[in-house]
Amino acid sequence: MASKLRFKVVDDASSRKPVTVEVPKERPSEYFGKYVFDRKKMFKYLPSKAYEKMCDVIDNGAPFDLTIADAVAEGIKTWAMELGVTHYTHWFQPLTEGTAEKHDGFVEHDGKGGMVEEFSGKLLVQQEPDASSFPSGGIRSTFEARGYSAWDPTSPVFVIDDTLMIPTIFISYTGEALDYKAPLKKALYAVDRAATAVCHYFYPDVKKVITNLGWEQEYFLVDEALYATRPDLVMTGRTLLGHDSAKNQQMDDHYFGSIPDRVENFMRDLEIQSLQLGIPCKTRHNEVAPNQFELAPIFEECNLAIDHNMLIMILMRRIARKHGFRCLLHEKPFNGVNGSGKHNNWSLSTDTGILLHGPGKNALDNLRFVTFVTETLKAVHDHNGLLKASIMSATNAHRLGANEAPPAIISSFLGKTVSSILDHIENSTNDEDISIAGKVAMRLDIPSIPELLIDNTDRNRTSPFAFTGNRFEFRAVGSEANCASAMIALNTAMAEALTTFKKRVDLLIEMGEAKESAILKVVREDLKASKAIRFDGNGYSDEWKEEAKQRGLDCETSCPIIFDRYLDDSSVRMFESQKVMTRFELEARNEIKWETYIKRVQIEARVFGDLCLNHIIPVSTRYQSTLIDNVHKVKEIFSEEKANKITANNIDIIEKISEHQSFIIENVDKMVEARKVANRIEDCRERAIAYHDNVEPFLDSIRYHVDKLELMIDDEMWPLPKYRELLFIR
Ligand code: ADP
Ligand code: MG
Repeated sequence: MASKLRFKVVDDASSRKPVTVEVPKERPSEYFGKYVFDRKKMFKYLPSKAYEKMCDVIDNGAPFDLTIADAVAEGIKTWAMELGVTHYTHWFQPLTEGTAEKHDGFVEHDGKGGMVEEFSGKLLVQQEPDASSFPSGGIRSTFEARGYSAWDPTSPVFVIDDTLMIPTIFISYTGEALDYKAPLKKALYAVDRAATAVCHYFYPDVKKVITNLGWEQEYFLVDEALYATRPDLVMTGRTLLGHDSAKNQQMDDHYFGSIPDRVENFMRDLEIQSLQLGIPCKTRHNEVAPNQFELAPIFEECNLAIDHNMLIMILMRRIARKHGFRCLLHEKPFNGVNGSGKHNNWSLSTDTGILLHGPGKNALDNLRFVTFVTETLKAVHDHNGLLKASIMSATNAHRLGANEAPPAIISSFLGKTVSSILDHIENSTNDEDISIAGKVAMRLDIPSIPELLIDNTDRNRTSPFAFTGNRFEFRAVGSEANCASAMIALNTAMAEALTTFKKRVDLLIEMGEAKESAILKVVREDLKASKAIRFDGNGYSDEWKEEAKQRGLDCETSCPIIFDRYLDDSSVRMFESQKVMTRFELEARNEIKWETYIKRVQIEARVFGDLCLNHIIPVSTRYQSTLIDNVHKVKEIFSEEKANKITANNIDIIEKISEHQSFIIENVDKMVEARKVANRIEDCRERAIAYHDNVEPFLDSIRYHVDKLELMIDDEMWPLPKYRELLFIR
């Protein structure tokens, strides 16, 4: 029975036609931001005083003035109602990896028995969502049960369908962050403050430093019908069983190959809707694995870029269904082919230019370049364990360290040109040579940084944190993750590095050292101190694992233990001194990380146990019975000697099936037992470790036998779509 269903589903999937996409008549530049209350609309719909104040908030970080709230709300309401909007929602990013929203209508009683549309400044600015079901790591139960959401005016409101979406932060009544956005904004502020101060050594006029983020989102598409017949995909987002397909990515024929029609239509639809929502989509292409794709917008200010990434993940899931697909954002939906990541292209720029961009026009520009690259290395070096924790999750753990994705050790690749410049600076010792910027730089060859700084081919795909010309690319971030987690850690570490840098330079200047010389001295110290993080070799090799250990880099691979790095003294000091998070908040967030880890493994173990016992074992038993039947029948009609010969092969398979089955049944039992034992552990960190050490390994060891059975059982009987069907039908 099951097999018939499988073939019908496969048939349906392969005969699906592309859905037509309504392409707007206007050009993309004309419909860009159509559903966003952007500056143009603010200008049109707000009184001039409110408009000016809003610009001041957005451009200069001025505090939002509550006296204009009503006027802003009124303007937004008028604009939104022209688009047919009837509801509004505070849209926030709780500590689960998604977003949350609760919709309220504009309608209110008008006091005369009728209704009227209303939207006040108060409703725009602050709400109290019933948040008791969002994870808080115990913060809310300790103090107040309530949390509230507060508008983030630096990220514009937008419209989806009939709803006005208002990006907000989400905090407890006592002020602790219960989301990603609140600490992110603090981290961005910290890096702005610290980097602006350092910038003043070079460009006294700089007013602010902006963090840029350009994310590249990888994803898989699977036909919706096939997806629906795989309980593992539905419940856990990844396949818990499935033998490699005979062909997967070994031909390298998918990457940059032509995009199939049905997929292209999905992408077109997604791009149009994204552009209308102000997301500057630019690049789309196939990825390495079959049915894997990538989407990248033009980089934006970090906070906005993250909102846009959260939004696009919603759009992807939604629009995929319209095209008969399911979009898989899990980091490792399929074994044996590449997983999905979300490269985070990160850079800092001032109101006048990009700080990680080299070379400059003069020696001072180059010193600026060297300073910011060095301090980035220092930040990444000093907090390499924490940065790994910031991208770690139960799902991303499957991708890291496998021989295809960033290794589970954070290191940084700079490329030959930049490496040799830094080496040169590090090894030059003659302080007398470095008293005047121009001359100094001459001696140090700094001005000779070639015009075309980094050859784009000078790339190391195995590096988790690579310099790519005018930015660093943090490649270890998971495809499903909220980039904010990585961006909070990285930017806070950068803020700390720059703050200490400035303190030391200022001290040297106070003691009579010339500015340029003082900067170079501290740069040299920091280059030496952070040397261990620089690695240009193959990050996947075993030798590197050995060497990294000797260099003192964090080599831990157990996800729940990696989370400990958030509570290291050096991390707590960093977050507290930069006013991003308190120890209390960090502890609470770690509780959530451990809990989430446990839940994900627990769900996988349950789903997998069920699949084994009520899909795989029954089907393999049925197939085994037909073989046994055959053996009996052969024996009825042939002589013993001949029958033995004929049935030898089947008897062998019958035995093998039994062996695999016993392993599966026995170990599913053990896995259930391991879960019970783990569940009795009170402390959630210890419980997460037990899940990691004692439950998770069963998923792999049992899977091996299930996948062997898949190869033996009659294809017609196998109940679940196979890899070749999931991965190649589009
Ligand atoms: P790749 O070759 O790594 O796939 P892409 O061109 O696909 O590169 O994507 C690179 C991403 O980096 C894009 O989002 C792009 O806008 C972004 N980017 C380019 N320059 C910067 C920068 N200075 N800072 C941050 N992001 C940048
Ligand atoms: Mg990239």
